[in-house]
Amino acid sequence: MRVAKSRRRRSKQAEQLLSVLILLAILAVLIAGIILIAERLLEGSKSPPAEPMTVMETQTETVISTEAPTEIPITTEAPTEAETTLPPGSVTGVTLSFYRASMHAGGGSIMPLVFMEPEDADNKTEIWESSDEDVASVDDAGTITPGSAGHCTVRVTSADNPSVFAEVDVTVLPPEDTITTPAMSRPGTTTYTEVSADGVREDIEVIDGITYVQGVMMVNKTYPLPASYNPGGLTPETQQAFRALCVAAAVAGYSLFSHSDFRNYSRQAALYDSYCARDGQAAADRFSARPGHSEHQTGMVIDVNWPGDSFNDTAEAQWLEAHCAEYGFVIRFPREKEEYTGYKYESWHIRYVGVEWAEQIMGSGLCMEEFFNVKSVYP
Ligand SMILES: [Zn+2]
Repeated sequence: MRVAKSRRRRSKQAEQLLSVLILLAILAVLIAGIILIAERLLEGSKSPPAEPMTVMETQTETVISTEAPTEIPITTEAPTEAETTLPPGSVTGVTLSFYRASMHAGGGSIMPLVFMEPEDADNKTEIWESSDEDVASVDDAGTITPGSAGHCTVRVTSADNPSVFAEVDVTVLPPEDTITTPAMSRPGTTTYTEVSADGVREDIEVIDGITYVQGVMMVNKTYPLPASYNPGGLTPETQQAFRALCVAAAVAGYSLFSHSDFRNYSRQAALYDSYCARDGQAAADRFSARPGHSEHQTGMVIDVNWPGDSFNDTAEAQWLEAHCAEYGFVIRFPREKEEYTGYKYESWHIRYVGVEWAEQIMGSGLCMEEFFNVKSVYP
């Protein structure tokens, strides 16, 4: 009885073992088949752009894989079709030097710089229009003139490609009879560029013709001041900070003093003209600003001791570079930054931006143009 039972049990066990083995074999065959198909599919989708001929071969071999590669040529066809609708030399994009502006009724005009892309486009004609001529009018050159208080949009469209345009959001404030010194800085904690979803820089704002980047007044070859902007001298903040800087220098054993500071528009015009007459315009543009483009007009700039290359590398210049940020100043045209600032190294020209900004800018090793990601080129 026992023997028969154990035999039956053994044959049952053998049967079970056999069925497991058969199952495993079927599974192995299935897996191998799946791997083979997957490999063929991958080969098919990788190769089409390089060698269309080999794609055709692999496709005919593996019937299942035909669907995947056929999808690829369709997606590549779409952009080429769109491209061919624009003849070569067409305008494909337009950007502005600013996209938001506030002005006072009765105040001066402003004019955004326009950059048509590509740079060598055949027809860069601009078409300007205002959504409300009563609020702000615009002429053919893009000069925006405030009318009455309100809000409107000024649009520039490419005459060559009307689907390409850019807009300035214009706010006209009620008239202002007294010139107030605008708030100078809105210190942040890190460098940032506010860009909206449609690629518009929201951190550049023009108020009464004065450009502010992240709240900091920006004056360079790209961003001018209106001829009428005249704080009448150094701003009180700048004056106070410069006094503190000179005292600290004296305590450390160095003598710092102002050689020149504020210059109004007409003074800068006369100075620049004299340099052009003496050295030619190209040379003058490397060390002197065109009227309206001089930071000295801000009332936040001082040329210390003596403005000349012989001041570079003096003990005073070294102390100034190491400590100016503690008092809210930056070396505005640092060494080897001419490609960004548009000016040669000037160890003597300091700009007041407030302690928080100055420490960030000087600490970054960047010049202001790099730090705020703006250009400095004459239009
Ligand atoms: Zn200067």
